[in-house]
Amino acid sequence: MGTLRADEIISIIRERIEQYNRKVKVFNIGMVVQVGDGIARIHGLNNVMAGELVEFEEGTRGIALNLEFKNVGVVLMGGGLKIKERTSVKGTGRIAQIPVSEAYLGRVINALAQPIDGRGPIPASESRLIESPAPGIISRRSVYEPLQTGLIAIDAMIPIGRGQRELIIGDRQTGKTAVATDTILNQKGQNVICIYVAIGQRASSVSQVVTTFQEKGAMKYTIVVAEMADSPATLQYLAPYTGAALAEYFMYRERHTLIIYDDLSKQATAYREMSLVLRRPPGREAYPGDIFYLHSRLLERAAKLSSYLGEGSMTALPIVETQSGDVSAYIPTNVISITDGQIFLSADLFNAGIRPAINVGISVSRVGSAAQIKAMKQVAGNLKLELAQFTELEAFSQFASAIEKTTKNQLARGRRLRELLKQSQADPLSVEEQIAIIYTGANGYLDALEIGQVKDFREKLRKYLKDQVPKFQEIISSTKIFTEEAEALLKEAIQQNSKLFVVQE
Ligand code: ATP
Ligand code: MG
Repeated sequence: MGTLRADEIISIIRERIEQYNRKVKVFNIGMVVQVGDGIARIHGLNNVMAGELVEFEEGTRGIALNLEFKNVGVVLMGGGLKIKERTSVKGTGRIAQIPVSEAYLGRVINALAQPIDGRGPIPASESRLIESPAPGIISRRSVYEPLQTGLIAIDAMIPIGRGQRELIIGDRQTGKTAVATDTILNQKGQNVICIYVAIGQRASSVSQVVTTFQEKGAMKYTIVVAEMADSPATLQYLAPYTGAALAEYFMYRERHTLIIYDDLSKQATAYREMSLVLRRPPGREAYPGDIFYLHSRLLERAAKLSSYLGEGSMTALPIVETQSGDVSAYIPTNVISITDGQIFLSADLFNAGIRPAINVGISVSRVGSAAQIKAMKQVAGNLKLELAQFTELEAFSQFASAIEKTTKNQLARGRRLRELLKQSQADPLSVEEQIAIIYTGANGYLDALEIGQVKDFREKLRKYLKDQVPKFQEIISSTKIFTEEAEALLKEAIQQNSKLFVVQE
């Protein structure tokens, strides 16, 4: 046996030491121990990350959510009917991500960003993590540009700014979806990319929304992300994040985006279902302890980026459904505390024919008039207060027998203002039209009309301004101020139109 010289031994030992840290490519694999209810428990997968995408032997994908001492809980994305005990599973080393590109505009996709509109594949060369950290304070600037919804009641009294998060909350069938979709319709020509995320809805409702978008020419700048009521809970839970990732892609490219989550109550229910089958401990209303985090990390991603990052924005309008107007339930209070205000839709108003059924008294926007143009502030400054006083007065006067004249006048004014704020679906008003209408009502030009004539008058005035006095619109859109000249033009237009109506007394 040949003898090794000392220096040879040293060099061998040194080599071994140097290689000690060498990266060895070992596949992270595991084996299914148990499967059912959309989750699988895996033995192995020792180096898996929380939120990592894993792949089952037969092709289904899943996300590792519960990293436990003896096993890993994976939620399945898709049916996974062929997964059996002992099926092998491979970690991909990647956190869940989706492809992104401009080509997504105009398409309907699912939570995995795959097209479901039957119009072929969507080309994409980039991808984005579906969960990515929200921009920090330094990356943001304060919200200051208006995002016009086209609904007078909102734009005049509860203004929304680009980059804001405003909750739409109300019972079922109170017009929540209508407010959101009308806002999307109103973004036509405004250079805002819209993303409508439908969670746990009926397929027929979603296709109704898509059809409206197509008919009104809104689909060009819109992406619809849809996971219907019969989709696995995992995908319903993921859909909002997928939407947010797409919106971020555009936001970081200096674009303005608007994202609607319709609705987060259903996402919370889906998450609860997943958590319960993963045997996470249930908390209040059986939701898991991190349900607040589910929504806060989603909504924090809405932002107005700083000028250094190009001033892109993501405005988020989450929707939450309440049970008989109870805003103090768990999910509503959570989301109210995360957002910058809420638009409260009331079933009573809706049934009384006041549509959109916005309860102005308890709706707020914490960004406030910073997100209004000056002209709007000039005419609508007192509107909210005036309506609040009217509502109170109306409630009291129901019991009064003799009402004095000033009160009577105030009631008459209020009733007409309320009438002006009614708007049918898919009929957004431009900010100039809104200004003209509010001015007319607030300055008493309608007091002489019958309540039933108010709507007619409004439509006639709209048409008249559009056809005969284009200058009015020009002044406001160029200067953003309700100048004396604009006021004079408007007064003249109102007088011309008043002649068409039979005046009382
Ligand atoms: P759900 O709880 O089922 O999701 P929702 O609160 O989203 O309901 P919508 O579906 O938007 O309510 O509206 C309920 C019904 O009211 C629809 O038939 C819709 O067409 C009608 N509607 C909504 N807004 C208006 C409006 N401004 N004018 C007239 N009808 C409206
Ligand atoms: Mg709805």
